[in-house]
Amino acid sequence: MLTDDIGVFTEKGGTIAFHFSKDGITVIDAQFPDTAPHLIAELKKRNGHVFRLLINTHHHLDHTSGNIAFKDVVSRVLAHENSLANQKNVAIANKNEDKQYYPNNTFGNVWEEKAGNERFALHYFGAGHTNGDAMIHLQHANIVHMGDLVFNRRHPFVDRSAGANIQSWINVLDTAMKKFNNKTKFIYGHAADGYDVTGPKDDVQAFSDYLANVLKFVSDEIKNGKTKDEILKATEIPGSLQWKGDGIQRPLEAAFEELST
Ligand SMILES: [Zn+2]
Ligand SMILES: [Zn+2]
Repeated sequence: MLTDDIGVFTEKGGTIAFHFSKDGITVIDAQFPDTAPHLIAELKKRNGHVFRLLINTHHHLDHTSGNIAFKDVVSRVLAHENSLANQKNVAIANKNEDKQYYPNNTFGNVWEEKAGNERFALHYFGAGHTNGDAMIHLQHANIVHMGDLVFNRRHPFVDRSAGANIQSWINVLDTAMKKFNNKTKFIYGHAADGYDVTGPKDDVQAFSDYLANVLKFVSDEIKNGKTKDEILKATEIPGSLQWKGDGIQRPLEAAFEELST
């Protein structure tokens, strides 16, 4: 629990957040079909209220494939309009539309609603990790679920097939840091081993700096005449050495493609 009525669930995949109120339970993200039922059972045990709303931060499988477990539990699913379109495209390509529980409420730039004493504000500031990432601000508690807009000290997936853009992602994070304040607590979709899935604005700034360092490094390497294959052999991002481990090729390749078009 982060507060008396807000908590996170981290079994596998994207971090889930939940909120209890007299109007019912709100859940942000759904992980996978095999883990979502564990969360649902636990929430039912802890809180007798009904489920009022499921929100998806974006369409990726580790955030939405568990939606189906909520089908008989909650009647409203909310996401950015591009997240719904992306989820449909992927499901049609994978021929598993029957395993989806799609958002039936979508928004463009902002969506606000109350639940008990809490006010939820969903914001869309442009393309980042995909072209449909929502930030969900629980205004009273001053907690923001950033979805996969922040990978805490972990190399991110940059989904160019779904409209991701690293430069725009940096702008989105800068907008968020102006919008929210120094007391805001952030929830991240993913974190490296040993790092937390929640934290202060410093983490958001560090990740924004990381993305800028990725672009600068790849841009410099291109200017130095390096090929894509040579650039992808890098094992660290200068200026952001806290980012270690697997997956460095994903942002490097995305940056290369972004800078080459
Ligand atoms: Zn994720
Ligand atoms: Zn994702």
